[in-house]
Amino acid sequence: LFVDGAISAGEQRVLDGPQAHYLGRVMRVGEGDGVILCDDVTGEWAARVVSASKREIVLDPVEMLRVREEVPDFTLCPALLKKPRFDQVLEKATELGVAKIRPVITRRCVADSLNMERARTVVTEAAEQCARTALPELFEPVGLAQLLRDWPEDAVLWFADEMGNAPPAATAFSERLPPAGLLIGPEGGFDDAEREEVRGFLQARPVTLGPRILRAETAAIAATAVWMGAMGD
Ligand code: SAM
Repeated sequence: LFVDGAISAGEQRVLDGPQAHYLGRVMRVGEGDGVILCDDVTGEWAARVVSASKREIVLDPVEMLRVREEVPDFTLCPALLKKPRFDQVLEKATELGVAKIRPVITRRCVADSLNMERARTVVTEAAEQCARTALPELFEPVGLAQLLRDWPEDAVLWFADEMGNAPPAATAFSERLPPAGLLIGPEGGFDDAEREEVRGFLQARPVTLGPRILRAETAAIAATAVWMGAMGD
């Protein structure tokens, strides 16, 4: 379970709300049982249940099991998609080990906003399921122009371009180290003006994921996996 704030040995943590419900009612933990806690700061800890009631669980962190993982500086910038598909992108990107997720709003996006609390829950649950010790940083959606304006000087922005005449992702990714980002368009793709804007962006590098037109979530997941593979992650 991810908890807020750095964990230290012997500093008891009181979990309430949904986490207490999950531990108490679903996992039925009781006094003396072990629970794994993560704080996204120091790492993963073994904790012992001191007391368990319907409303709250008191835990005593005993020892650190794993230090917080080193996360390659990779930012996935997926255009907003309709909810179930965007949830898939959030979940798979988390499993694949991304450092940051910067959702982008483009002209052809069907969805124009993101429920951040729900998105954070999807990301946290995915991290807990795949036993990550670090949570991806999730940002509020921004327009394409702002994403490019705010893009860090030292980072390359890979641009998944289905219109061809771009190097294959696997080849391109192997040439560069992090920090890097990957921009994926929405269901309807980028419009001509957006494509020009990105192609004109100094740090943007187009890549192709093959001759087929992939669904946006397929492209986001596949390209992230290729990037992570090229980093030997
Ligand atoms: N232009 C597409 C069409 O004609 O249906 C719509 C965009 S595609 C469904 C969604 C996004 O996935 C694209 O904007 C692009 O970023 C990425 N994508 C899909 N297939 C790709 C490919 N073969 N190579 C690179 N990117 C791809």
